[in-house]
Amino acid sequence: NRKVITVDGPSGSGKGTICRLLAQELGWHLLDSGALYRLTAMAARHHGVALDDVESLQVLAAHLDVQFRTDGQDDLKVILEGEEVTRSMRTEEVGADASLVAALGPVRQALLQRQRDFAQAPGLIADGRDMGTVVFPEACLKIYLDASAEERAQRRYNQLISKGLSASLDDILSDIQARDDRDMNRPVSPLKPAPEAVILDTTQLTIEEVLEVVLDQAKH
Ligand code: C5P
Repeated sequence: NRKVITVDGPSGSGKGTICRLLAQELGWHLLDSGALYRLTAMAARHHGVALDDVESLQVLAAHLDVQFRTDGQDDLKVILEGEEVTRSMRTEEVGADASLVAALGPVRQALLQRQRDFAQAPGLIADGRDMGTVVFPEACLKIYLDASAEERAQRRYNQLISKGLSASLDDILSDIQARDDRDMNRPVSPLKPAPEAVILDTTQLTIEEVLEVVLDQAKH
């Protein structure tokens, strides 16, 4: 686990983008752990499993039939049970469902080894909520990205508008606050920085500035 960089933080803190760029820059593997919770929630919907049916969810998580395929340069395709879900897994609804199943200890346990299996040479960038605290406690570098809820809502809003989608800033902000609350206050693996994590508040920083700081830390 030495060659693992963990990047944890709340939704919208820029983790996804930073992790993709870091993995590209270093030529390391990438684990999007949130995807596993999203896919578990989607599989539950497909199979008519209720999001509070802990036993069935645990079985689904343990047997998740998923492939992560890199076809182009940076295009990662996600295939769930033979069906491409790369885009459909990114909706707010799936994110909200994911945060419900992610609050269940047995589901987290079922996904633990699958996440650890991503740690292969030459190294791994692990994106999530509990990468530094639970999944990769021996990582060589732990980063915690934060930003105010208002800034994160604004970023998400800009993203949707730039795609020509309609959005309400107020709705996005309350969704983000609800998800933060659930992720930070659940009894199992709550979102929090590892004691040795480098905490970066990205509210006033650009992607390029954050990347530079993290790469600089990685060289130490
Ligand atoms: O990061 P993303 O928005 O895709 O994550 C979806 C949800 O999955 C989060 O809101 C969180 O509840 C859960 N999650 C988690 N632990 C992780 C990654 C994601 O609990 N390591």
